[in-house]
Amino acid sequence: MSPRITNEQIVQMQELRNEGMSCQKIANAINVSKNSVCYHLSSGYAERRKLYSSEYYKNHVDELRQSSIEYRKNHVEEKRQYDIKYRRNHVEEKRQYSIKYHKNHADRKRKYNAIYSKCHVDKLRQYSVEYYKNNINKLRQYGAEYYKDHINEKRQYDIEYYKSHADEIRKCKAEYRKNHPAEIAARSAMRRAQKRNAFVNLTPAEKTQIKELYRQARKDLVVKCYLCGKRIPLGHRHVDHIMPLSKGGKHHFCNLAIVCDSCNQSKYTKLPSEVGLLL
Ligand SMILES: [Zn+2]
Repeated sequence: MSPRITNEQIVQMQELRNEGMSCQKIANAINVSKNSVCYHLSSGYAERRKLYSSEYYKNHVDELRQSSIEYRKNHVEEKRQYDIKYRRNHVEEKRQYSIKYHKNHADRKRKYNAIYSKCHVDKLRQYSVEYYKNNINKLRQYGAEYYKDHINEKRQYDIEYYKSHADEIRKCKAEYRKNHPAEIAARSAMRRAQKRNAFVNLTPAEKTQIKELYRQARKDLVVKCYLCGKRIPLGHRHVDHIMPLSKGGKHHFCNLAIVCDSCNQSKYTKLPSEVGLLL
């Protein structure tokens, strides 16, 4: 037996029928059999429904389910072949009919689509994932163009979104900061350098190198000070600009090194040559 028709499905059937849709179309839209649709929409349905009480279904459930499965299993190929043959013989006719039909039934089509989407969530999600995977460049291009043409709407949307999700966003950011201390430290250093005009455009690989240095400073067990050469315990390490930013040094991986507390204090803004470094 087919799955039991719910009251919601019966209401959907009636809505689509009021729009003038055929039993077959309604059946496709809500994913039930055509017979079931005809049955539920026929004039004597209410009376028959009383007669065929739930008792009957309860007593024959396995038998009916089995018979329905068998029927569908035995007629799959037959139905497929018929459909293929029909489509092949009526291509132009079908195309013209389809254009005319969609033009005259735009509202009905919208309603049909809404109900179809509701009844085929998983199938449509799967289709979207596949489509996105196969058309990623096209979609990116479209997205960039759309963003350019709707920049003000997007800004307004972002403002509204942040306002209505403030707590959620705050929590998410705090979580990120907790789990990515090295990234946060590297980003802050980059911002400080930008303020001092010591920022150079970095490639993604160079940014990764800098991030890795901050990660070593926070996580690695053995790290030595580039000035005194001693092992620095965790919590006493600083990432230093070898040539200070105030003396024209740049925020670049080649100008960064890990230093201990005391060397950091004594060096501060001295030139490398002043602390005995030959560059
Ligand atoms: Zn040191």
